[in-house]
Amino acid sequence: MKKIISTILIIILITCIGSNVLAETAQDIQNKIDEAQEQQQQIKEERSDTMKEIEKLSENITESENQLAELTQELNKLETEIKETEEQLNEAQEDFDEQEALLKTRLIAQYKAGKTSYLDVLLNSTSITDFISRYHYVSIVAQKDSELLDEIQKEKERIEKAKEQLENQKNEYKIKKANAEKQNVILKNNKELKESYIDKLNDDEKELQRQIDEYTSELNKIKQAMLNETPNGNYNKYTGGVMAWPTRIEKRVNSIYAPNGRSDTFGYAGSAHRGVDIRAPQGTPIYAAADGQVIYVNRSGWGGGYGLYVVISHGNGIYTLYGHGSSVPGNINVGTVVTTDMVILYSGSTGAAEGAHLHFEVWEGQNNRVNPCPYLGIENKEGPVV
Ligand SMILES: [Zn+2]
Repeated sequence: MKKIISTILIIILITCIGSNVLAETAQDIQNKIDEAQEQQQQIKEERSDTMKEIEKLSENITESENQLAELTQELNKLETEIKETEEQLNEAQEDFDEQEALLKTRLIAQYKAGKTSYLDVLLNSTSITDFISRYHYVSIVAQKDSELLDEIQKEKERIEKAKEQLENQKNEYKIKKANAEKQNVILKNNKELKESYIDKLNDDEKELQRQIDEYTSELNKIKQAMLNETPNGNYNKYTGGVMAWPTRIEKRVNSIYAPNGRSDTFGYAGSAHRGVDIRAPQGTPIYAAADGQVIYVNRSGWGGGYGLYVVISHGNGIYTLYGHGSSVPGNINVGTVVTTDMVILYSGSTGAAEGAHLHFEVWEGQNNRVNPCPYLGIENKEGPVV
């Protein structure tokens, strides 16, 4: 739509040029081309900036990936350490179990010894000293075993604590890694977005170039038509006053005259709308707004955005342009003298138009596409004309 508006403006400029304002109009179209070229320049700068941003993002992604690799390595190391600790713990547990079993055996032995009568021990002892030492020995060994068991238990607890610390560390690293991964995804998405933005900028630039080419070729056509314009009969020259409304249906302005920009072109520089859009459903007969002579007719194609359109000279350097037609009556040709009761176009949505309507422009000689509203005796605002 924006492109369309921009294109339409250019076309209008081109179309509206009478031979006496040819040079000025050519200048105006040149301005339009300059504008498009300026937009291209803006796109180039925007693209250069975006590419720098992409470069920076690529660096950040590399950094982020290095960080991720480091974290992964650290995590793997921790996992290995935890595994080792687990093995140590298992060994300690085995030692503990073994020692515990041994102690039990000895305790049972001691217990049994305790049940044995002094006489039995005495009888089996070579001497009273032997008896005492034997009896004592059992309990000392048990005492040692018990101490050893305590030590193992302590060692086991130490290892468990170490393992717990490692697990905590591992969890911390897991969180760090998850965050780093998230960051990495964000950076990559951001980069992808920028890259698709570059694609869009490239497309926009191509589109602008296409428009420039189109405007230039349309300009040349109209220049030629203006050079060829010759008076072809008499008509009442426009000398002021309210022109006739170009339709015979309910009057309505769909979109206003906005020379300082109604909307943006491609989201860059503002682009003007140098006409008013008048309500005209598909096939509505469009009448000349004043008596005059047809100076340009485009019967097919894009028409630089105007689609099918007609330009009428009303004398005294006043021109009107009618754009987006669905067809031009056969009797309307360059040189045809027209009156306000003659259908000069049937409305449509050809060229750069969204939906059928009439794009209507008024030119005041010297290169000026002026506000058509005073000519139509209306206010420059959207809505029904009362
Ligand atoms: Zn328009």
